[in-house]
Amino acid sequence: MTEVSVTKDAAPAADPLVVLDNVNKHFGALHVLQDIDLTIARGEVVVVIGPSGSGKSTLCRTINRLETIDSGSITIDGKPLPAEGRELARLRADVGMVFQSFNLFAHKTVLENVLLGQLKVRRTEKKLAEEKARALLDRVGVANQADKYPAQLSGGQQQRVAIARALAMDPKVMLFDEPTSALDPEMINEVLEVMQQLARDGMTMVVVTHEMGFARSAANRVVFMSDGRIVEEAQPDQFFSNPRSDRAKDFLSKIL
Ligand code: ADP
Ligand code: MG
Repeated sequence: MTEVSVTKDAAPAADPLVVLDNVNKHFGALHVLQDIDLTIARGEVVVVIGPSGSGKSTLCRTINRLETIDSGSITIDGKPLPAEGRELARLRADVGMVFQSFNLFAHKTVLENVLLGQLKVRRTEKKLAEEKARALLDRVGVANQADKYPAQLSGGQQQRVAIARALAMDPKVMLFDEPTSALDPEMINEVLEVMQQLARDGMTMVVVTHEMGFARSAANRVVFMSDGRIVEEAQPDQFFSNPRSDRAKDFLSKIL
């Protein structure tokens, strides 16, 4: 295995927001996350790539504690992940998550989807929450869909609503797990554009994706995983033009 060290922007590196320290996780006999050390700076965009089954989704899910870990530690903004209760609900609000399958509430309108967390978890006053929800729907380009139900929207629109819903909680970091993998090709760009804008606005983001164009243009850093390990980390240009490990070379030769 080859470790690649890179020079990162001095400012964000000085301000760690998400820190995974020697994280290990098993599913039965499967050692799905092995000695993961990963620090994500405030404002940084990290793209995670790697073969299917390498542990990318599990990595995301540990960061908002949808999965527990066996050893090591994870801190968000200096605080360890809470185990349960209200603290955990608050943590989940601080860590926005967007999944491959949009996971909107089917029996709520688009507007209600974006309102719910604000009212229940953040306890925002209704009028303010609604103003914010409408502004966010406008930001992701679906303001005119507010009163529809998710099933009445295209996949690309639903995914943009899912992003707005996560943003409504004012998350400190946004996790995206293959957000465009379930979309028809013509809808991929509209979602990537919203993510690009979010990156430009300074959101801290962890993005699992096979969209290498997005990785090249939006990522500060590419993390390549294989078999539960971080095999290689580098700036995108360096990673795509000159991958160091055989596993990364092999992976890129299959997808590029
Ligand atoms: P990736 O997102 O990179 O495709 P995952 O994190 O989804 O990888 O999965 C990594 C490995 O862990 C795979 O072998 C997968 O089958 C296994 N796995 C994922 N979730 C579970 C689970 N809840 N129980 C048992 N095995 C799991
Ligand atoms: Mg996955």
